Amino acid sequence: MPELPEVQTIVDDLNRKIIGRKITAVWFDWPKTIKNPKPKVFEKEIKGLEVKKIKRAGKNILIYLSHGYLLLVHQKMTGHLLVGKWRTQKISKFKYEIISLEKGLLREKVNGYIHLIFYFDNGRQMALSDLRKFAKVLLGDKEKIENLPELKKLGPDALDKKLFFEKFENIIGRVSGKIKQALMNQEIISGIGNIYSDEALFLAKIHPFKPANKLTKKETKNLYLAMRRVLKRALKLRGTSISDFRDASGRAGTYNKVRLVYRKEGEPCPRCQTLIKRVKMAGRSAHFCPYCQKL
Ligand SMILES: [Zn+2]
Repeated sequence: MPELPEVQTIVDDLNRKIIGRKITAVWFDWPKTIKNPKPKVFEKEIKGLEVKKIKRAGKNILIYLSHGYLLLVHQKMTGHLLVGKWRTQKISKFKYEIISLEKGLLREKVNGYIHLIFYFDNGRQMALSDLRKFAKVLLGDKEKIENLPELKKLGPDALDKKLFFEKFENIIGRVSGKIKQALMNQEIISGIGNIYSDEALFLAKIHPFKPANKLTKKETKNLYLAMRRVLKRALKLRGTSISDFRDASGRAGTYNKVRLVYRKEGEPCPRCQTLIKRVKMAGRSAHFCPYCQKL
């Protein structure tokens, strides 16, 4: 799932590519992606609106439009927004073939998962590619969208300048659950998922199952610093592309090349050479070094 560095990479790309563009039409072949309003109404309402600015809230992309509208995109498991030019061609009653009209990075593989396209007044488009089809899109009044529980309930952003150590310590110290789960819980701290929780806990030498409120002050400090360091590094490397993440031009991020433990089970720990372990945790996996990260 795209996490803070991946979502921020897309947001930065979109801010460079689509500000000031007017949406002239929408195409989709998977209406379930559009959660609000009804797809037909969505199509009508968004037509003619201009892109004003793009922001990130946790893992959500907020596209502010003219006339007080706000478009929320949550990429969920496999979604990612691309800017380019495509042609949609109906090949059977429910099936379309999506052909990229721009050469280069927007590869055929990605095109096959495009289910939603926004057309702009300069002839270019923004497409949502989504292999698993869990991504969601909502359009509405700025105030209405901003007040949705999923945005209202977000905890402080993991890279927020105002998230000082004292505040982080205070938040984490009140959680009795496992530290990895606390880090991934968007209502506690927002922006972190499976990849960067594994990486930060490894750097801080903390076992993923350790109860959050049992961390020592030193461990909490190490974790705070590790979290910021890992996220900033990943942001610089434009995210992790182990599975299908691409930036808005279709390019892969490169944090996966320098990652420490995430999806590295059976490989030697970069610090002590003990083999990295993977354990199940509430339907997800935690990767860690059993020697460096003792419970
Ligand atoms: Zn180790």
